[in-house]
Amino acid sequence: MSIRIGVIGVGEIARNRHLPSIAASGEFTLAGLASHHPAPAVDGMKVHPSHRALLDEVALDAVAICTPPGVRFEVARDALAAGLHVLLEKPPGMGVAEVDALARLAARAGRVLFTTWHSQCNAAVEEARRFLAGKKLAALRIDWNEDFVKYHPDQTWIWESDGFGVFDMGINALSVLSRIVAVPPFVRAAELRIAANHAAPISASLTFGSLDSDGSMEAHMDWGIKGPDQREVRLTTQCGHDVQLLDSAGQLVIDGAVVVDRKREEYPLLYARFADLISRGQSEIDVAPLQMTADAFLMGRRVTVPAFEG
Ligand code: NAP
Repeated sequence: MSIRIGVIGVGEIARNRHLPSIAASGEFTLAGLASHHPAPAVDGMKVHPSHRALLDEVALDAVAICTPPGVRFEVARDALAAGLHVLLEKPPGMGVAEVDALARLAARAGRVLFTTWHSQCNAAVEEARRFLAGKKLAALRIDWNEDFVKYHPDQTWIWESDGFGVFDMGINALSVLSRIVAVPPFVRAAELRIAANHAAPISASLTFGSLDSDGSMEAHMDWGIKGPDQREVRLTTQCGHDVQLLDSAGQLVIDGAVVVDRKREEYPLLYARFADLISRGQSEIDVAPLQMTADAFLMGRRVTVPAFEG
């Protein structure tokens, strides 16, 4: 039987990824939409003006929540309380404790909560995880840089204090790191560069500590670049291997040889996984990337940089 799903927060990612993945899925049927401000119908389907209106008026089995993170908690709480299974876009909430509270509610309600990390869905990530199993990390370098204007024109919520700033994209790199390394490094220091006209960082650098090594472990993320994107995770192991996840974790290079180079089908895989979790009545909750982000904000040194318009 098809799972009747509603999508809440009909913006960039919902229109470009969630709705096509639901339409292509054999397991889900799109049954309703809700978005904040009055929105035109999508393919003839009414867009409800609030998540509560959607939950009150449409019979659903599940929802996918694609709002900005600052309002995720309230929407997810109401959906779980209404007896629905919940898929959360990344990041799953504003703080780790908030997600923990939702996990408890899901368990109490007997419903599935799925915290998605789309960048983890790549074949290269799984192969890197397999290769790194049992190996110790020696050093790490992440570079995750994009031209903000190219991807997020008009998204002002990102620059608010609950918008995550550059971590909105950088958390994808942290989700890859936490997936491929069995005992992930943890944040020891950070610098958050915040444009004078914004409340959230435009770029950040993180320094990690690890149980296994005192080697250099750093992440750099920047939304202020012009030119090509750079989304790369490079690490070396103590037994001397060089492992590189390039092209947004689509390509895996080990010791100079391309091991995986495959087109990414992240969102169809997320929906297949959600259907599987629902069929098994099992939640999947991963807060590791959010924990790293929260630690960076907790201990990060704030530096004010020139105003950024974008
Ligand atoms: P977006 O284009 O700004 O879309 C967010 C949508 O949520 C807007 O339509 C907004 O409506 C709506 N919304 C806000 N508050 C709401 C509420 N209380 N109830 C219902 N709807 C509400 O942002 P986005 O780029 O799609 O990003 C959304 C999430 O997806 C973020 O967490 C982001 O990290 C994640 N994501 C984005 C991308 C990407 O490339 N864009 C990729 C992967 C993941 P109004 O505009 O009317 O307020």
